[in-house]
Amino acid sequence: MSDPLQQWRDALQDLGVFGLVPEPQEEPEVPTVQAPAEQPSPKEDRVPIAPSTDPAVCPPLEAVASTASLDLLKTCIQDCLACPLGAGRIRFVFGEGDPTARMLFIGEGPGRDEDLQGRPFVGKAGELLEKMLAAIGYQRQDVYITNIVKCRPPDNRTPTPQEAQRCLPYLRRQIELLRPGVIVTLGATPLRELLGVLTGITRIRGQWQRLEMLGGIPVMPTFHPAYVLRQYTQDVRRAVWEDLKAARAWLDQHPK
Ligand code: SF4
Repeated sequence: MSDPLQQWRDALQDLGVFGLVPEPQEEPEVPTVQAPAEQPSPKEDRVPIAPSTDPAVCPPLEAVASTASLDLLKTCIQDCLACPLGAGRIRFVFGEGDPTARMLFIGEGPGRDEDLQGRPFVGKAGELLEKMLAAIGYQRQDVYITNIVKCRPPDNRTPTPQEAQRCLPYLRRQIELLRPGVIVTLGATPLRELLGVLTGITRIRGQWQRLEMLGGIPVMPTFHPAYVLRQYTQDVRRAVWEDLKAARAWLDQHPK
């Protein structure tokens, strides 16, 4: 087994950071948590979805809101068929990681490998996410990873706003139970559906946002690992590394 320093160097090189990069010596700059920039309200093009009250199709939202642990939440929602994605899934993908983790990653939705295994980020994008984590000194088990929707969209398409909004109460309860110190959103979809930010990810990545829950949670938007794999340039990989470094620095400066 190679030593941890070498693993760290390898991870940095995979992210496009070449040469030995020293541990930051200076106090990292405290990011200013800003309200999302002015933009059209996402509500304008959304059709509000009335929560289903049929417990045969999905759990009542009151039951979801009253779950006292992640395990109970998973049990409560794992047979959900509240949106069309439920009927097409092989496995429900709740999310996984350290339930006391301070860093929460939110992606878009399960892909083929995730649907088969019932775990988030296990394919090539998952491998890259693990390298991204290694570059900031984390292992997968140090963080928590989940998605906007818990069931695979067909052909890995983006979940529709209706699907995402129907699944959102589950994610919000997950966040309430996890109480993360910082959230990293991967790609445009979680930023749009969770925060209502419609700005393209290329423009907004690296700029702190704020989720108005639990007194305000800092949110760092960055590229989705699947995008990084498609655009495997040094600039894109370095951008992700910078975003994750900023998220890690925020946590280091704000211990529990
Ligand atoms: S994606 Fe979410 S809302 Fe849709 S069926 Fe799956 S768990 Fe239910």
